[in-house]
Amino acid sequence: MRKLGIYVQVPFCQTKCTYCNFHTGVVASSRFAPYVEAVCGEIRGHRELLRTAGVGCGAAILEKAHSQEWLCHEAVVDTVYIGGGTPSLLDPAHLQSILDAVREAFNGNGEGEDCGGQKSRGPSGLRASEPPHSQEVTLEADPETIEAEKAAAWVQAGINRVSFGLQSFVDKELVAAGRMHRRADIYRAVPILREAGIRNISFDLIAGLPHQTKESWRQSLEELAALAALAPEHVSVYLLEIDEGSRLGKELLQGGGKYSAGAVPSEDEMAEFYEMAQESLGAAGYHHYEISNWAKPGYESKHNLKYWRREPYLGFGAGAHSFSGAERWANAHDAAAYVTAVQSGRLPVEQHETLTAESALEEELFLGLRQLDGIDVARIERMYGVALAGRFDPLALAGLVKRDGSVVRLAPEKLSVSNEVFVELMR
Ligand code: SF4
Repeated sequence: MRKLGIYVQVPFCQTKCTYCNFHTGVVASSRFAPYVEAVCGEIRGHRELLRTAGVGCGAAILEKAHSQEWLCHEAVVDTVYIGGGTPSLLDPAHLQSILDAVREAFNGNGEGEDCGGQKSRGPSGLRASEPPHSQEVTLEADPETIEAEKAAAWVQAGINRVSFGLQSFVDKELVAAGRMHRRADIYRAVPILREAGIRNISFDLIAGLPHQTKESWRQSLEELAALAALAPEHVSVYLLEIDEGSRLGKELLQGGGKYSAGAVPSEDEMAEFYEMAQESLGAAGYHHYEISNWAKPGYESKHNLKYWRREPYLGFGAGAHSFSGAERWANAHDAAAYVTAVQSGRLPVEQHETLTAESALEEELFLGLRQLDGIDVARIERMYGVALAGRFDPLALAGLVKRDGSVVRLAPEKLSVSNEVFVELMR
């Protein structure tokens, strides 16, 4: 039985971080309820909405068979990821409604619908009563939004993993980046989550924030790894990407001192910070399994692995992306337009692409190499009927990739320059 991931986008934040230009808005909380209602409507009605929008065959999963035909199969939901934005801003009852809608729409009553609209006995979908590791239900949260009552309600709703946007343990960096929380909020929030029963916590850190130095970055890494009271099961480290349209991006281009653009570390410093993270997290017992991700054994993000392994997922909400195996599509970003469209029974699909064999192959290489286990070149050659070995020769000669039989992986000591590999490979 194929596994299916569900992504739910909540595009609301408390403030706008200086470096961010995501399609997220700071809006009145009165807009949360209509948005959640629209998302639940999209989840419950996704088969018909997708059919009307001319996308694939709804929740059925497309799988490439030996005949090279794409076939429809039932699937079972094993991961849900509620991201944003800051979805922990929502009332817990909103999150409960979203997860209830997922349970109902994806075979919660033991009945599914195949892609021809036929009723069929299907596997049970998401169940709150399942042990935590059989289904992964993640909520992205910012530390300042955590309260004991909310956390208990999240667990009650079936959430068993929290991904924390903590970014740094250094207040000067958090202030400059326009984040709402401070270091003390992290220490306050984590015990609340543990007390509520969350056994799987992920921390996000950003390397390259304004005012970050080698010493302050070391402080964040050491606090993250060393303190038994925190000890997250999973860590993501991202290099700061400054969107040109963000306030920090504009200041970098046009000059000025309001957002500390002059204090952004150089690319070389960021590469050094990344290498420090590799060393520190490895020493603390975290397994490096994807360019930006580390986990304690068994705590790799099941949901995010689907993206890198090109496994199917359905996205709901404004700007949410979906992948069926053969097609990729995305909803319109504008939250108000999204709500209006769903209320009128229409899915506002903004992008829709049926992948060619060439673009699927590129994804296979690009996404596969992000994983430190690497790619099995012989398998990909068989699958796509191409010869690839020669493409890796110059990269291997330059020491950027390592070969082990037919497996090719990025050289661990060159991960900080992985973009060079991807550029070279896609030429
Ligand atoms: S919380 Fe995340 S999505 Fe919201 S403004 Fe900050 S970086 Fe952007």
